[in-house]
Amino acid sequence: MRLPIYMDYNATTPTDPQVIEAMMPFFNEHFGNAASRQHEFGWIAEGAVENSRKTIAKRINAEAKEIVFTSGATESNNLALKGIAEAYRSKGNHIITGTTEHKSVLDVCSFLERNGFRVSYIPVDEYGAVNLEQLRDAITEHTILASVMMANNEIGTLASVAEIGRLCSERGILFHTDATQCVGKIPTDVHAMNIHLMSMSAHKLYGPKGIGALYVRSKNPRVKIIEQIAGGGHENGMRSGTLNVPAIVGFAKAVEIAVQNMSDESARVASLRDTLEHRLLAIEGTRRNGHPTKRLYNNINITFPNVPADDLMMALKQDVAISSGSACSSADAAAGKMSHVLKAIGIEDQAGRCTVRIGIGRCTTEEEIEYAGKKIVEAAERLRNASPRHQIENNSKHITASLTAH
Ligand code: PMP
Repeated sequence: MRLPIYMDYNATTPTDPQVIEAMMPFFNEHFGNAASRQHEFGWIAEGAVENSRKTIAKRINAEAKEIVFTSGATESNNLALKGIAEAYRSKGNHIITGTTEHKSVLDVCSFLERNGFRVSYIPVDEYGAVNLEQLRDAITEHTILASVMMANNEIGTLASVAEIGRLCSERGILFHTDATQCVGKIPTDVHAMNIHLMSMSAHKLYGPKGIGALYVRSKNPRVKIIEQIAGGGHENGMRSGTLNVPAIVGFAKAVEIAVQNMSDESARVASLRDTLEHRLLAIEGTRRNGHPTKRLYNNINITFPNVPADDLMMALKQDVAISSGSACSSADAAAGKMSHVLKAIGIEDQAGRCTVRIGIGRCTTEEEIEYAGKKIVEAAERLRNASPRHQIENNSKHITASLTAH
């Protein structure tokens, strides 16, 4: 067993060796530019890109031409929201989203608000699910788009995507979902789920970093977006720039492997997750965040009262790599700001600072679960017992107990 054990699979995943193997020839053997139409080098690269596009499209029940390659889900979210805002501005200037979205949606919403759009942020319940009634009530004649993530990257809660999509279709507005944490983990069908635009990223599903895609529906309705990176009209005029052929090939291979192994892998990982979670929840006062069942199968988000997350992560640094939340919000964390997701589900600042995210995945073994469970419990109990706040709470509990006994 190699230490430290990696348990931050919601931040990123290791690239699958089969993915690396599929990518290799496209670095130096088939290195052509996929946009070079005049020679074989270009044709081979273009062929590889188009096959990859087909593979990815098929796995989400889309058509190849509906897949726009981007540099990852941050860019896909930017392209979806800004691209729709610009294309549909004459129809309306109102957008709806949730309070627990990824920063690459929320920061774009702030940008749009500074540029004449109005954004409604729909609250979530204690488990992190968007309130459907409030979403329905927020739709006005000026609304053009609702963007609600398929699964939250910190607490793993799954949204009722098909229902939200149906509601949006009925009310004649577009529906975008950030499915970064879901593609390759749970079956994702853009038609069954009534999705008009969907963001994806390869590095969350054992593919390379720096490549992702945006699904853009081409009929019923045909969705228009304005490109946000101009220069050459690549990707049907939706995103310019020379395509990253090896990464695209790797992305498709990763999707293929993930979808093929989905049922076995999800059952195995879910069972390991449950074993670890069960063990951690046995520590007194510990609380699980996120929905008990409607959530990602590989994620644990847990609060250990009076155990500062930073201290716990430091205590574990040689044994287990876990995080205090989204890697993309680490600047906020460094500035001492609590996660906006934990805040949205009603967790107080003090408890929020005592909360960690654990993500397991394809390479996690039973032995690692056993070891990590032991180390996390030991460290959490040690830190808690040393915490002055815990000692005060404990003393007052004893005093109350002895007073009631007399
Ligand atoms: N959305 C979600 C839900 C994510 O988890 C992430 C990755 N943390 C992103 C968007 C951004 O993805 P990328 O790293 O591909 O830019």
